[in-house]
Amino acid sequence: MLSRRQFLGVVGAAASWPAIGLGDSPVSEWGSPVFDLHFHMRGESAANVRHLDGAGITSANLLTRAAAGDQVRALQTAVPGRFTWFCSADPATPQSVEELTARVKAGARGFGEMKYHLATDGPEFRRLYTLAAELRVPILIHFQEVDHFENEGTWSPGFASSFERMLKAFPQTTFIGHADAFWANVSAGYHNEAAYPSGPIARGGITDKLLGDYPNLYGDLSANSGNNMLSRDPAFTADFLRRHQNKLLFGSDCACTDGHGSGVSQGNNPGAARLAGKCVARETLTVLKRSTSSEIFRKITWDNAHSLLKIPA
Ligand SMILES: [Zn+2]
Ligand SMILES: [Zn+2]
Repeated sequence: MLSRRQFLGVVGAAASWPAIGLGDSPVSEWGSPVFDLHFHMRGESAANVRHLDGAGITSANLLTRAAAGDQVRALQTAVPGRFTWFCSADPATPQSVEELTARVKAGARGFGEMKYHLATDGPEFRRLYTLAAELRVPILIHFQEVDHFENEGTWSPGFASSFERMLKAFPQTTFIGHADAFWANVSAGYHNEAAYPSGPIARGGITDKLLGDYPNLYGDLSANSGNNMLSRDPAFTADFLRRHQNKLLFGSDCACTDGHGSGVSQGNNPGAARLAGKCVARETLTVLKRSTSSEIFRKITWDNAHSLLKIPA
């Protein structure tokens, strides 16, 4: 016999019931509502909704650039209650402080995605760490030191060597870590050998330790990097999710068009071929679902983001 939760899951998948407004708490085919922290805003309103609906996602956080304010407002008006947003601006430009301040005053709930060729502990990023603390919003950072294509260059280099000093120096700043270097360093002994290392996780890695030691650090599980880390070592994954159940956030960073893997899913990134033709959101929700309890699943895919982004539940 199906439990109520399973029943609602089956009905939700088969009949595409609205994700919000079914009884008191929203449900989805995943058994509980799902919030995607890492969703790059698409040009057309309908394309944004198509990915959420296709992957069974309730609501999402749009990652935008400073110029995209009107587009965000149009989407929020057209589809009320399903989108929050972050905004990014180049930390190397002096106007980034004004731009980000204005966007937060206009409703952005964080800085991101911050993906720039600037050192993690450099003056440009430090200026924005201070600003994020003043504005009381989190800053979402892409850490990557192995090229996906020739001459790509590093993004926020210095994660393994310098980031702990930033966590200490900016205790009032809430950091959300993401991408290759952040998740590869869950395993000890990693030295940028590959963007997406495989095989069992060596216990005691830097990222695991930082998540345990610093209340101002959270982890965004999006993209191939997050999915790859979760897929390497099932016993480790179950324990990792349990230990950091209040610090981890589901995100997709998926570029597929329909929530089922259509379109170009891993363009310009041959190293991520394992997810080509697949929806990253679906793949990561599936590994989370089989790796943890429904209570922890709900925290990672819904509750934690609502607390951190101060979204009314
Ligand atoms: Zn990224
Ligand atoms: Zn997708």
